[in-house]
Amino acid sequence: RDPLTRTLNRRFLPSILGREVSLAKSTQSPLALLMVDVDHFKMINDTHGHSAGDIVLSHVAEYLLDAVRGSDYVFRYGGEVFLIVLVETSRSEAQAVAERIRKTIASQKPSISDAVKVEITASVGVANFEGHPDYQYLIDLADKALYRAKQEGRNRVCVAQSPESVVST
Ligand code: GH3
Ligand code: MG
Repeated sequence: RDPLTRTLNRRFLPSILGREVSLAKSTQSPLALLMVDVDHFKMINDTHGHSAGDIVLSHVAEYLLDAVRGSDYVFRYGGEVFLIVLVETSRSEAQAVAERIRKTIASQKPSISDAVKVEITASVGVANFEGHPDYQYLIDLADKALYRAKQEGRNRVCVAQSPESVVST
């Protein structure tokens, strides 16, 4: 696990997500991926210092770990970006989890010192497994949805629109 956030190191992502994608395919069960990115995190570092940024990150990770079930996986994907694998989770359930996470992050004001609390928000991209065998495809969908959430103003959840969901035979 990542020492700062206690979330899973991304080097385990290929094996875990690869396995969950195969399982979802063979058992016909739903699977969802959330990409969570703290908004304007660089500003927190710039304003309060890098160690304050670290404290904020560890709080965010704690909310994420609290928000999911024991069978789900929370990875540190990049600096302030987390990937959450929600097993056996439908489209609507995944969206509800994402929205709950977004609300929790926006409502908590983590303390970075005795006197200072910081307000933070995060944006979330949601992707639902729709049969594509390559797990990277799912990550790309979540990434695109996250990008859209940022473009649309941050502090929001966007759900990926897969071309595959339209082209059904
Ligand atoms: P956006 O809303 O578009 O996501 O903006 P942002 O500022 O969050 O994103 P950007 O990619 O510009 O900056 C991310 C910053 O996160 C830059 C980097 O220095 C910082 N960062 C990455 N990892 C860590 C870490 O472990 N600790 C701290 N304190 N900062 C980190
Ligand atoms: Mg960010």
